[in-house]
Amino acid sequence: MDQFATAGHQLLVNQVPITQLVDRVGQTPFYAYDRSVIKQNIAQLRAELPGKIKLHYAIKANPMPALIDFIAPLVDGLDVASSAELIHALNSSVAPTQVSFAGPGKRDAELQMALASGIIINIESENELKRVIALSEQSGYRANVALRINPDFELKSSGMKMGGGAQQFGIDAEAVVNILPLLQQPSVNFRGLHIFTGSQNLSAASICEAHRGIFALAAKIKQQLKLDLAHLNIGGGFGIPYFPGETVLDIKPIATELKGLLEQYQSEFATTEVIIELGRFLVGNAGLYVSRVTDIKQSRGETFVIVDGGMHHHLAASGNFGQVIRKNYPVAIANKMNLPTGDNVTITGPLCTPLDLLAKNMSFPQIEVGDIVAIYQSGAYGFTASPREFLSHPQPIEVLV
Ligand SMILES: *Cc1c(COP(=O)(O)O)cnc(C)c1O
Repeated sequence: MDQFATAGHQLLVNQVPITQLVDRVGQTPFYAYDRSVIKQNIAQLRAELPGKIKLHYAIKANPMPALIDFIAPLVDGLDVASSAELIHALNSSVAPTQVSFAGPGKRDAELQMALASGIIINIESENELKRVIALSEQSGYRANVALRINPDFELKSSGMKMGGGAQQFGIDAEAVVNILPLLQQPSVNFRGLHIFTGSQNLSAASICEAHRGIFALAAKIKQQLKLDLAHLNIGGGFGIPYFPGETVLDIKPIATELKGLLEQYQSEFATTEVIIELGRFLVGNAGLYVSRVTDIKQSRGETFVIVDGGMHHHLAASGNFGQVIRKNYPVAIANKMNLPTGDNVTITGPLCTPLDLLAKNMSFPQIEVGDIVAIYQSGAYGFTASPREFLSHPQPIEVLV
C-alpha cells in the first residue's frame, strides 16, 4: 500500500505520523482521508485520459462535506444519489449545471429540489419522466433531463453489475424511442444520456469493451431520437484492489481506447461533452480506518486481537457488504511498520457476533494492547456504508488530513 509513506515504524497520513494523528483526533476509532493521495489520483487520471473527457465525482462513495469541498475544484462535476447528497453538492463550488442526480424511485420532494436547483436529472423510468414533467409544469422550473439507459450488454468481470438484463436502473435501450414525445415537451430541456454499467471493475479490457458498447449505443439512440446530446455520461466503475492477487487498474489502455472512440465518433459527438463518473477510484485508496487494540487473548491455539472498532463502522472490511467469500482487506499495525512479522492472528471488533471480523489469520509484527490497527482502502463505502448504530457502540469520526 505504497500510497502511504512510512517514517521509522510509523505509518504517515499526509506526512503526519499515525501516533500523532491519533492524539490529534482525540479518539479511536476514526476514518482518516489523505488529501495528497486524492489529489494524486485525480492528477494521474487527468494526465492519462484524453483532455476532452470530463471527470465527475460520485458523492455516494464518500460524502464527507470537507472531502467534497476538497474535491470540488479538482473535478468537472458531481453526481448525487439522494437529496442530502444534492445539498452537499450545492454547498460546494461546483455549478449546479455540472451536478447530476441518479437513482431509482426519486421522490417528488427530491425531484422538486432538483428542478429548483437547475441540476440535471438522470431519468430512471418513463413514469419518472412523466412525474418530472408534471412537477415542472406546476412549478415553472424547466427540467434539465438526461436519460439513464439500461444497455443491452453487460460490463464483464464487474464487482457489481448495474446495467444489462432486467434492472431497476435506467430505461431499457430498446424502449427509449417510445418516450420521444415526452422529451419533446416544452418543459423538458433534454441534455443527454447516462449509461452506467457497473462498479468495482479491475479489468481494463472489460471496461474498454463496455466503452465501445456505450459509444455505439449512444450513437444509435441519438440517431433514433434525432436530438443532440449536450453530454454523454459513460459511467465509470473503475475498481481498486482490495484482496490478495488483485492489482491496480491500468488506465493507459482505457485512455487509448477512449481516444480512438472519440475519433471514431467525432461526427456524432462533435459538440457532446463526454463524462466519466468515478467514486471509489478517486477516494478509496486515500482512506484508512483506524482502531486501537483493547485486548489480546488465546483460544485453543489461536490468537485473537480485539480492537475498539469493527464491522459496525466498516461493514465492507468485515466481508459483509455483498461479498460472497470473505477475504481480508489489507491491514497494518500502523505504529509498527517495517518490522518482521510473526505467527498468524485474527483481529476482531467488540461486537457480540462472529461476523465482526477485521482480519482472519493474518501475520503481523508482535501486537500489544494499545497498538494502532489501520485498514487500508477504506476511503469509499466505509463510514456511510456501515450499520453504525448496530450494538450502540461509540461512533467513529472522520478526518481529512
Ligand atoms: C455508485 C455509482 C457511481 C460510483 O461508483 P464507483 O464504483 O464508486 O466509482 C457512479 N455512478 C452511479 C450512477 C452510481 O450509482
